[in-house]
Amino acid sequence: MWQLKEQPILNFKKLDKISTMSERKVRVRFAPSPTGALHIGGVRTALYNYLFARQHGGDLIFRIEDTDSNRFVPGAEEYIIESFKWLGIKFDEGVSFGGNYGPYRQSERRDIYKKYVQVLLDNGKAYIAFDTPEELDAKRKEIPNFQYDASTRTSMRNSLTMSKGEVDQLIAEGKQYVVRFKIEPNEDVHVHDLIRGEVVINSSILDDKVLYKSADELPTYHLANIVDDHLMEVSHVIRGEEWLPSAPLHVLLYRAFGWEDTMPQFAHLPLLLKPDGNGKLSKRDGDRLGFPVFPLEWHDPKTGEVSSGYRESGYLPEAVINFLALLGWNPGNDQEIMSMDELIKLFDLHRCSKAGAKFDYEKGKWFNHEYILMKSDEEIATLFMPILREHGIEAPMETVVTVVGLMKGRVSFIKELWDTCKFFFVAPTEYDEKTVKKRWKEDSAERMTELADLLESLDDFSLAHQEEVVMKWIEDKGYHLGNIMNAFRLTLVGEGKGPHMFDISAVLGKEETVRRMRRAIEVLK
Ligand code: GLU
Repeated sequence: MWQLKEQPILNFKKLDKISTMSERKVRVRFAPSPTGALHIGGVRTALYNYLFARQHGGDLIFRIEDTDSNRFVPGAEEYIIESFKWLGIKFDEGVSFGGNYGPYRQSERRDIYKKYVQVLLDNGKAYIAFDTPEELDAKRKEIPNFQYDASTRTSMRNSLTMSKGEVDQLIAEGKQYVVRFKIEPNEDVHVHDLIRGEVVINSSILDDKVLYKSADELPTYHLANIVDDHLMEVSHVIRGEEWLPSAPLHVLLYRAFGWEDTMPQFAHLPLLLKPDGNGKLSKRDGDRLGFPVFPLEWHDPKTGEVSSGYRESGYLPEAVINFLALLGWNPGNDQEIMSMDELIKLFDLHRCSKAGAKFDYEKGKWFNHEYILMKSDEEIATLFMPILREHGIEAPMETVVTVVGLMKGRVSFIKELWDTCKFFFVAPTEYDEKTVKKRWKEDSAERMTELADLLESLDDFSLAHQEEVVMKWIEDKGYHLGNIMNAFRLTLVGEGKGPHMFDISAVLGKEETVRRMRRAIEVLK
């Protein structure tokens, strides 16, 4: 098996290759930095990790990468956890979930990183540098395109150019320093990416990255990320394309530690692009075009700014999952509606696209509409109830279920049901002028009085019975069907829209139907 975390950290012994790789348990992680609300692209990354883990009977880890204290935003971690809870993405271990590889918050792993920084220093893979920000600035001015690397490190203030005594002395005096990765120049670094194939870059273009800062006694992202992926036995690193440029450095770090045999396999996901396809999707696009880029509403604790979320905008979590799953991946046919279980079966990293995925917000709405249709009338009614209450309506569940059944096909969001159906719950107080002009004829008041009398006389007010009696009445009298129905609609709804007339009157019941009719006659005659 691969090197276990209990093994001495200086053990660089080559381990049995390849064969162990295929037997290796799938362990993936989602490792956000708590710097604010989780962007919808991050949600997709987590989703793909989740699908991959479930499909392979593996584990999904939730790790918080909070070593950059300047960018820490309070509440972000809780926000991220709540987002996944809402979406139904479940973690097997990590911050707030427990597990045997903790702690899972990087700020609680300082001692571990220190140990590994020392390993690199002891092996000559890293060095200590004392250059102050001012000195570095001066160098940047002096040398065009200055980069701290093999070509310049010999002229800088570091443990490669100073004696051990000097270095120890400075550290003893409390001088601040950083530890830099000593990158050997002129070497082709191969990154094998499951989506992009072989990516090769020359090590000379890399700078000697800072791995650790004495000032806050914390490692930088690169070191912490690699050490943790190793110790947590991560088998696959599935993350956004923005991390691809870091991958060669990460490969070199695995090698410097002697961990190349257990190096995770990389998969860098395509970017989410603006709806028009030009450039990366940003929060500003959401503000500009009126759609959320965050799963939940976010209250920025620093600026007080409130950003909309999918949950508060009325999305069903299943619809968001389905929509996101198809941004950068497809099942190889034109199937679009897929449950989480189906996605787990069908997902395939090899079918992820290299090209960026356009964020088609209209498609997101379409998914929501489809999921509203798929849910039972009872489920939708339960979600609609609180909206009715907000408008001061206390209606029996049975009625709401019937109304939802009649109307849900017309909306993309549950909250749109209010505008679409409110006439079921509130009698019209006004009558749409245009409709009145067009539909309320000279004899309408007389006809509606006759119809109201007729309906009032019915003992059986069921849809079928009403329809039968009214149709016969129209026929016997030789009335114009359209004129009667249009006027009838106007009296009950106040305008020219709505479902089948007898569906409406059956829901309203005899008393309310007749009351509305008589009132309309009063107002319109
Ligand atoms: N902390 C990084 C982020 O915020 C993790 C990148 C990675 O997955 O390696 O996305």
